[in-house]
Amino acid sequence: MGQANSGPHWQNDEDVSNCNKCQKPFTVVVRKHHCRGCGMIFCSDCSGFSGEFPSKHVFTPARLCESCYNKRGFEKHDARSACQSCNKDFGSEGVTKELCRNCGKLTCGACAPPSKGLPAVPSGVRICPRCVTSITELGEVVRSEAKESSRRFQRESSSF
Ligand SMILES: [Zn+2]
Ligand SMILES: [Zn+2]
Ligand SMILES: [Zn+2]
Ligand SMILES: [Zn+2]
Repeated sequence: MGQANSGPHWQNDEDVSNCNKCQKPFTVVVRKHHCRGCGMIFCSDCSGFSGEFPSKHVFTPARLCESCYNKRGFEKHDARSACQSCNKDFGSEGVTKELCRNCGKLTCGACAPPSKGLPAVPSGVRICPRCVTSITELGEVVRSEAKESSRRFQRESSSF
């Protein structure tokens, strides 16, 4: 287990003997888990949420505590009936409902295709046009964190 230096300030394992939420004491069975959003340590039950947390530069689903999960700011599936970018109705033929993983707004699949090659965003993550612009501007700042994920082997051989 290594300490991550990027992202939130991670709570030290040694500083924590109880879950930050339910106060359950950690044992060999009740393991410590870091929330990737706030960096605090929780038991597996209290950190059993999985999601992206763009404002913390978490663009792929990661372990989150409940409060981070609820703080992510993603719109509910029925929050709007038309794409926030092109205004096409989600009920129309071929207009799929997707979430921009950066601003959390409901965007159609055509406006937010899976990204490829944005500096700070792993490929395959949907980002709306507005956010693509701001991420590109932010690219320099967050590039160091993107390195982590780009180390993964990118090319997938066809498995069919
Ligand atoms: Zn807990
Ligand atoms: Zn958290
Ligand atoms: Zn659209
Ligand atoms: Zn967006």
